[in-house]
Amino acid sequence: MTHLVVVGASLAGLRAVEAVRGDGFDGTVTLVGAEEHLPYDRPPLSKEYLAADECPDPRYREHATFADDLDVELVLGTPASALDTSARTVTVGDRSISYDGLVIATGAHARALPGTEGLAGVHVVRTLDDAIGLRGALRDGNRKVTVVGAGFIGSEVAAVARSLDLEVTILEALDTPLVRAIGERMGRALTRLHERHGTEVRTGVAVDEVLHDDGRVRAVRLGDGTELDTDLLVVGIGAQPTTGWLEGSGLTVDDGVVADARLAAAPGVYVAGDVARWPNALFDDVLDGPMRLEHWTSAAEQGRYAARNAVDPENAKAYETVPYFWSDWYASRVQFVGVAAGDHVEVVAGDDADGGPFTALYRANDRIVGALAVDMRAEVMKYRRLIGRREGWDAALALAAERREQAA
Ligand code: FAD
Repeated sequence: MTHLVVVGASLAGLRAVEAVRGDGFDGTVTLVGAEEHLPYDRPPLSKEYLAADECPDPRYREHATFADDLDVELVLGTPASALDTSARTVTVGDRSISYDGLVIATGAHARALPGTEGLAGVHVVRTLDDAIGLRGALRDGNRKVTVVGAGFIGSEVAAVARSLDLEVTILEALDTPLVRAIGERMGRALTRLHERHGTEVRTGVAVDEVLHDDGRVRAVRLGDGTELDTDLLVVGIGAQPTTGWLEGSGLTVDDGVVADARLAAAPGVYVAGDVARWPNALFDDVLDGPMRLEHWTSAAEQGRYAARNAVDPENAKAYETVPYFWSDWYASRVQFVGVAAGDHVEVVAGDDADGGPFTALYRANDRIVGALAVDMRAEVMKYRRLIGRREGWDAALALAAERREQAA
């Protein structure tokens, strides 16, 4: 094993490179990234990067020393366009790069709202360039902000816009926001967090058409024919795994690159991060099949696993995890661990009636499979450990009782 190629120069790709260099791998490492930027942190882009008066620098490392620090050949600014798993080559521009081991970490890209291509005043938030554009627009005298999609990123942008004293409406097609991510009751609870801060949330509404004057958004027409005037339209309707470049590669692509438990998608080819779909053994009794996450923590962990497995396939290790993500809305911290599957959700601390603070647990197969906390920062990691040990529901309720006693 002499040449590791990592495609995707973001979190998973960076952690991949760091892991093998940290382990002492002394072969050649090439990191290919479609963006001009060095790897940078995405979570702040919909939070403090938009909100702070002083614009923070979200890059993970200093540009000047990055390549030297990790002894990595950087190929930035051009996307990989093809993969040949028989010849073990990746095409980047007019170069064909040979690999012994490959990590695919091409992440995901923001879903666009049809009919908004090229319109001024319409934003998504996925890349640093997106965030630079939106940060400016939020300070450009625009008053009315409409967010399409009440997911986590849309909700974070809405919260920032409110903190800048703008008028914010969220439009959500589903009757309950976030139902797939955290279930119905908790989706309603988080909606109240918005309402508490003066953000209007309209559910069960479809955007039929985006209206504009000379290429600048001015309103959206809803399914019932009403028009909602807006200065800015922020589209937060999810992300799609970036797999187009793998067409014809023979890899199985099904809402992500499908891999085995060791994150292997083909001989010598491993996947990591938002693009990866793999069987998470911890939830094999609860989930129908392999899962794909869009969480910072698992992208970082998978980057390390994929790269270590790629350089030492004989000793490749299976990756399993209790998923974890956080999200910041207004001054509140929302945290979730596990999966939102099962037959029962129980609030075990606080009260969800007004959007928090509270902790709620999710039960499936008579075991704890998930936990959601709003403004109870110390809680979810305790439940995460129980989930990781596949502890029963009784053990979760016992821990909850103990935590309540300690808090009293
Ligand atoms: P990405 O970060 O998507 O990076 C993939 C990289 O690959 C990109 O730089 C892309 O340009 C590049 N690429 C794509 N195609 C090619 C190609 N053909 N050739 C070369 N390069 C290519 N998670 C949380 O847990 N908590 C949060 O609060 C949170 N907030 C977020 C806020 C925002 C605005 C966003 C966008 C994400 C947030 N996330 C959060 C999710 C987290 O940031 C992602 O899970 C993580 O960035 C995934 O890392 P990745 O390396 O797999 O993919």
